[in-house]
Parts: sequence; C-alpha cells; structure tokens
Amino acid sequence: MARIRTLAPPSGHTVLVVDDDSELRATLIQLLSSDGHEVIEAANGADAVQLCRHRTVHLMLLDYFMPGMTGEDVIRQVRTFDTELQIVLQTGYASEKPPRQMMRDLDIQGYHDKSEGPDKLLVWVDAALKTFRHMQAIQASRSGLDYILKATPELHRLQPLDDLLKGVLLQIQGLIGFNSACVATFGNAGDALESGKQGQTISIRVGTGRFASRVWGNLTEHEQELVHDAVSTGECRLGAQVVLPLKAGRRLIGVVLVDNPVKLESDRHLLEIFAAQAAVAIENVRLYTLATTDDLTGLMIKWPWLNRLSETVLLAARGGMATSVLVLDLDHFKRINDRYGHLAGDRVLRAVGTRLRELLRTTDVGGRYGGEELVVILPQTGEAGCLVIAERVRSAIETLQIPWEGRTLAVTVSIGCATLSPVGPEEAVSLQAQEPNMNLLARADAAPYAAKRDGRNRVAQNTGPGPIGSGVGF
Ligand code: GH3
Ligand code: MG
Ligand code: MG
Repeated sequence: MARIRTLAPPSGHTVLVVDDDSELRATLIQLLSSDGHEVIEAANGADAVQLCRHRTVHLMLLDYFMPGMTGEDVIRQVRTFDTELQIVLQTGYASEKPPRQMMRDLDIQGYHDKSEGPDKLLVWVDAALKTFRHMQAIQASRSGLDYILKATPELHRLQPLDDLLKGVLLQIQGLIGFNSACVATFGNAGDALESGKQGQTISIRVGTGRFASRVWGNLTEHEQELVHDAVSTGECRLGAQVVLPLKAGRRLIGVVLVDNPVKLESDRHLLEIFAAQAAVAIENVRLYTLATTDDLTGLMIKWPWLNRLSETVLLAARGGMATSVLVLDLDHFKRINDRYGHLAGDRVLRAVGTRLRELLRTTDVGGRYGGEELVVILPQTGEAGCLVIAERVRSAIETLQIPWEGRTLAVTVSIGCATLSPVGPEEAVSLQAQEPNMNLLARADAAPYAAKRDGRNRVAQNTGPGPIGSGVGF
C-alpha cells in the first residue's frame, strides 16, 4: 500500500543517514524529511564520522555492512567523542549478533532489521529522539540546579541582590515548571499592598512572568488574599498557588508567591531553600544599608563610600574607563547655623542630600564625607561629563527653597571635580599599589577651595598640575 504522508513542521532534529546503498539513502531521506526532520547523508563510515565531528547530529541511522568501515567500527569511533548521539543500527541480514547484546555492547538505542519495513524503522526513530529529548531536559535541569547551587551563596554578596534573586527564581521556575512568581517584601517602594499588619505595606521586589512588572494588580484577588493571609499568620499556603513566608530569624520580612501548585516534595523543598536564603540575603542588605547610610542626608557614610571608590577605580582601570569624583562644600553654612540654629542647618543638609540623591543615576554613589562636605563617585564618566553633572547639581541646589519656621532658606554649594582617565592594563596593575582613588579624591577635594576663592556657588575642575580652573556665573 502506498504511504500517504503530509509534510510535517520542522522537528528541530537532525538525522544522519549512513548507507552505501544510494537508493536506500534516498528512500530514507524522503521518509524522514516528511516527518519534519533535517536529514543529512553519508555513503561510508569515514564520512559519517567526519559529519558527526563537525555537525550537530541528534540521531544516526547506520547501516551495519558497508565497504571499509562497518557500522560497528563507526560506532566505536564516534563514541570516543560523542556519548549522547542516538544511534539506530540497520541491517539487511537477520541478526549478525543478537540485537540485545549489540545494543548493550555498543551503547546504541535501536537495532532495526531492514526487512521489517519503514513503519518499524520510524518507531525506532521516534523512540531514539524521545530519549534524546529526555536527555536534553535532564541536562537543562542539571545546569539549572548547578546555577542555583552556585548563585545561592552569591545572594549574600550585597550587590546586585535583586538581579540575582530574579535569576535564581527564573531557574527554579524552569525546573519546577510554573509561569510566574515573585518575592515581595515590606516597605513602601513603588506599588504597595496594604499588608494587613498595622501601618505596614508590602511591595513586589522581583517578579517573573505576569509579576515581572511588579504591579499588585497583576495578582488575582485570591492571590492578594493569600499574601495577606501568609503575612498575618506567618505560615505557608500550599494549594493552587503557593505562598511561602520570608523569615529572617523570627522576623517576617515578606513572602514568595508562586502561581502554580507544587506537588513534589523535592520542588517544595527547593522553594523553601530559596525562601530561606533570599530572606537572609535581603535582611543582610537592609542591615548593611542601615549601617552605612547617614541618617541626615540619606547618603553613604565615609568608610563604605571610600571602599566603593576603590572598587570603582579598579574596575574602571580593568575596563579602560574613566572615573570622576565630585566634592561639594556648602557655602557659608556656618552662617545658617549661626542665624537660624543647628536644627535649621540640619534641615538644609537634609534637603541638599535628598536633592542630590534625586539627581544621581543609580550607578553613581553619593556620600557624606564629613560635616557639610558631600562627595559623589561618577563611574564611567570623563572630564566633560563630570563638568556637566557638577553644574547640574550646583544649579539644582541653588534653586532649592527649604521651608523653615515660616521662612524659606536657600543655600549654594561650591563643587570641586576631578577625573581619572582610562589607563592601560599595565598601568592598571601599578594603580592598585598606588591608591589612585586617594589621589583622585585629593585632587577633587582641592578644587572647592578654588571655587570658594573665586566667589563660591561654582564648579572648579582640577585637571592636574597647574592652577585649578573654576567656572563663573553659569
Ligand atoms: P565656606 O563657604 O567657606 O565653606 O563657609 P562655611 O561656613 O560653610 O565653612 P566652615 O567650614 O567654616 O563651616 C562649616 C560649618 O558646618 C561648621 C559646622 O558647624 C557646620 N556643620 C558641620 N556638620 C553639621 C551638621 O551635621 N549639622 C549642622 N547643622 N551643621 C554642621
Ligand atoms: Mg567645609
Ligand atoms: Mg562650607
């Protein structure tokens, strides 16, 4: 009976047909192509081995008897460099060797007797390709698990936590097979949900799938209720959706929500490990931020800022990039204290710190170096860019109107800036020994004096040896 086959969509599999009989090869190519496979061919064993070395092949249909190398010779050679290729051996003669023994000895996945016809052959092909897909899935799971194992300790590094959290969540998603998940923590950032605890709100920190946009409205009402519930009881909710509390010690700091039931014990265990590690990592960041942030200005305090400067300079040296530093000194700040009192002075410093934080990019690092001296690291910023930013900061602070006991206070700043130009790899090595960050900071720190001397409320750039230039009027 004639076979009627329609052309199938591409299967994504490549099959190599090896046979010295060209007519048989042509028949097999037609048969397999109509199943959607990409088919390549070889007329002898040596060519087949070459193709396996240089092309991606998922399945080899291999004739046993061929002049030169036999099918068995081909398999032995191919297995020295490819243990994953699926191989179905074909023979025109009834059993040269018992099929079971051949399959075991040669590590092949099928043994087809040509006399049994094409349908039987296709059964072998389908089975072998299915095995291949399973192997691929296992490999993907294994590399997913590897990623999680490697990335989980990394969660405890302080930067960039949210990217890592999301990366691990995506891997778990791939392994367990859900569509969307999120990590939500207490706090007011962005779109927040009333958590049910007095005065506290909860917001989505990282999300995948339909939670990626971090909007609470993307959770169903039921899901929002589950979060409320988990937050008020501090307990897991396992059902059509899964909610796990994030606990740092006994303190509840948020939840993990998964939009799928988790049936396997091992999958639930994986999620629990993630929740436990994520909670500790998030808490570490909170404590670190608390310990390194200046209360008044919200900027970083001196020692971590200096650490960040060193890191930034070394990173820039490796990447051949420039780094700039700004040093801001409030003008006649003492007068504000003297006229309106220290609390007024504090209010002004707070306003300047807040404005500065609003102006900076997330990669810039603002700090409070001392009393009324503020500093900024501008990574990947050269001399021209640094001047532009310094001027933007200067004019933004000049326009601040700070309410204080029925009055409006104003303040200006003198800004010094300096830039460390990109260096080559050799210089980068010697820079490590020379503390270039201090050199850069010292140059920026010298510049506000020039600005003060020239009348304050201006930017002065220290470009190296020679007098420091400051702009006027702007
Ligand atoms: P100049 O334009 O030359 O910089 O004048 P200045 O008055 O700002 O300079 P000076 O360094 O003489 O004074 C700095 C003042 O800043 C003195 C100090 O009391 C005040 N100060 C430092 N830290 C704080 C703070 O945290 N709060 C308040 N209110 N004042 C502070
Ligand atoms: Mg000062
Ligand atoms: Mg001052």
